[in-house]
Amino acid sequence: MQSDVLIIGAGAAGLAAAARLRDTALTVTLAERLPRIGKKLLSTGNGRCNFSNTDMQPTYYHEAAPFVSALYERTPPHTVLRFFEDIGLMSLSDEGRLYPRTNAASSVLDVLRFAINSPNIHVLTDTEITGITAGDGFTAQTQSGETLRTKYVIFAPGGAAAPHLGTDGRSYALLKKLNLPVTALRPSLVQLKCRHPALPSLKGIRTQATVSLHHGGETHSETGELLFADYGVSGVCVFQLSRFVPEHPENVFLTISFLPEIPAADTSTWLWERISRFPDLPAENLFTGVLQRMIVLAILKDAGISREKRSGDLSPAERNRLTEELTAFKLPVVGTLGMEHAQVTRGGLALGVVNPNTLEALPGFYACGEVLDCDGICGGYNLHFAFTCGITAADDILTKEHTGGITHDPSA
Ligand SMILES: Cc1cc2nc3c(=O)[nH]c(=O)nc-3n(C[C@H](O)[C@H](O)[C@H](O)COP(=O)(O)OP(=O)(O)OC[C@H]3O[C@@H](n4cnc5c(N)ncnc54)[C@H](O)[C@@H]3O)c2cc1C
Repeated sequence: MQSDVLIIGAGAAGLAAAARLRDTALTVTLAERLPRIGKKLLSTGNGRCNFSNTDMQPTYYHEAAPFVSALYERTPPHTVLRFFEDIGLMSLSDEGRLYPRTNAASSVLDVLRFAINSPNIHVLTDTEITGITAGDGFTAQTQSGETLRTKYVIFAPGGAAAPHLGTDGRSYALLKKLNLPVTALRPSLVQLKCRHPALPSLKGIRTQATVSLHHGGETHSETGELLFADYGVSGVCVFQLSRFVPEHPENVFLTISFLPEIPAADTSTWLWERISRFPDLPAENLFTGVLQRMIVLAILKDAGISREKRSGDLSPAERNRLTEELTAFKLPVVGTLGMEHAQVTRGGLALGVVNPNTLEALPGFYACGEVLDCDGICGGYNLHFAFTCGITAADDILTKEHTGGITHDPSA
């Protein structure tokens, strides 16, 4: 089988690339290993698909910021929004997070499905690409032994996160066979496993908090909703911190400030004032109306304070310990819930070998989306990055074709 462009992976990046190449003179094969295209998209944003954000900063992509900055200069964020408008999607903003107006992820997939319905685009589902060789274009093999010859490859197989959605990381081996470097892979945007005797009783509690992750002298902090579970903690702020947890955590711990709205330096004054207002309340009731009861009991236990003790009788040392627990409740981290539960992969194809203006890693070989060593924070940034990659690669192919096409002669 022969085509001008082979797109590997019908996820966010691959579908955007295919849609961009519709109705062109190029023949396009879109290969997807799963029985259906865009399966992961349906699970995104809790079924709503948070596909972009009105606040788009390269720094939201951590170490990849310089790469993303160059890429988003080449393909600015409004290009992606215009792309979706053009294919029929109306969006709504929820505090800057962009969702389809229908609030249904299926709408995003549907408009993409319609957009790739074009005579020049041939979709192959249940087709896993298991090998690629370069030389006078590219030759790809499928799991069933078929050979596909192509001039350009858009490599968009996703990462290693959420293997049940087609992305188990197998495809990095294809890069290594092409002598392209892949950095260490770790789960990101994932729940944290912690060790603390109070966890079973805190399970299911949600609270606003500032959560700080401490590891090897470094501290990263996030504020937002924290959710306790029997295994540890979850919530957007925990997800954001998860990329900093090493593979084998040692001396990694969280500190939780349960009153993020009060500056840490003022918590002690706040506590003393509260005690002076309610001196006769037992310690277990001192924070009623402020904190959930199970959190109060966990704090008191860690502070070594009896729950029955009259608040007004708390010694200065006990008040200091209570302040410490309110601002820096300590939870040792023993790991993450792993790739099975992660939304994104940290690590991937080293950005040093990829041109951010074209996304070529080799002449005619484009790497797109999560397979790259780039992970963004929560808020639509990972999908936006993947869509931008697909659009950029497709546009570069069209530019090359309009200016005489690619030459695969290595000596040229
Ligand atoms: C539960 C969940 C919720 C998420 N929610 C959000 C959100 O709301 N907003 C956001 O920005 N990000 C979200 N993400 C992250 C986002 O979905 C991904 O970063 C993004 O989909 C990556 O796009 P991609 O095109 O690179 O890869 P993917 O979308 O993962 O697509 C890759 C495709 O390639 C296929 N494939 C893999 N290998 C091969 C092969 N060898 N041959 C053929 N096909 C292959 C896979 O089956 C898959 O369909 C979420 C992720 C998960 C798991």
